[in-house]
Amino acid sequence: MKKFLKILSVPFILGGVGALVWLETKRPLRREVESKAVRNGRNLAVAALAALALQLTEKPVAARLTKLVERRNLGLLKSVRLPKWGETILAVGLMDYTLYHWHVLTHKIPFLWRFHLVHHVDLDLDASTALRFHFGELVISVFWRSMQILVIGVSPASLAAWQMFLFASILFHHSNLRLPENLDKWLQNFIVTPRLHGIHHSIVRAETDSNWSSGLTVWDRLHGTFRSDVPPAEIIIGVPAYQTEDEVVLTKILPLPFEEQKNDWQLTAGDSAAKHLK
Ligand SMILES: [Zn+2]
Repeated sequence: MKKFLKILSVPFILGGVGALVWLETKRPLRREVESKAVRNGRNLAVAALAALALQLTEKPVAARLTKLVERRNLGLLKSVRLPKWGETILAVGLMDYTLYHWHVLTHKIPFLWRFHLVHHVDLDLDASTALRFHFGELVISVFWRSMQILVIGVSPASLAAWQMFLFASILFHHSNLRLPENLDKWLQNFIVTPRLHGIHHSIVRAETDSNWSSGLTVWDRLHGTFRSDVPPAEIIIGVPAYQTEDEVVLTKILPLPFEEQKNDWQLTAGDSAAKHLK
């Protein structure tokens, strides 16, 4: 039965992703800087390496740890008696909250930022950016994921539920989809929307240092990091020191974490984006 459901979910996932990509072309939120074909090819190449890294590291570790949690009743949620559905909802919420903190750390700790930077130097933002994480960032995050599973007490079923929630959420909020403004605003009460996450990908540091959540907006509201005051038309996507197309090609971004770091938040003199930095 489980296997059957897994097979059945494939056309739904592919259909959902296809619909989102199609809608992005019909109702774009931001004007694109680079050619879509070039960017998508590059992002999918980074994503393929990331997927391989996840298969080899996070997947086996998380599978073992979630089974251990189930068998030995480890962690917060296993120390209280909860119905299965209640446990799953709380696990998804707590995984989302602790991922908020991991995201903040990937920006604040210079060693982690070297890797997360590869995600941020994309000059455009669309569903393909959601998959474009440096494989190194994903390997390093196995440590955080392990702690999340053990401390929260995440079962295999809860982990699967959270992964599905996260996957749908990151594809949606990275997408270049212009939802009706009222709908986007209403959704912001609950979840991260394309307009909100665009602010996190701005070249203006004060704007990047907001909207850290990967799922529910409640965490940003709780920590005073929620921002919805920057319209998409006023945002330049990327990191100031990497504003030209030749700086973000595949052969430059893959070795980026291992090279000497630039002054990331400084624009090069004469850069056309300079006037937008306040
Ligand atoms: Zn980020």
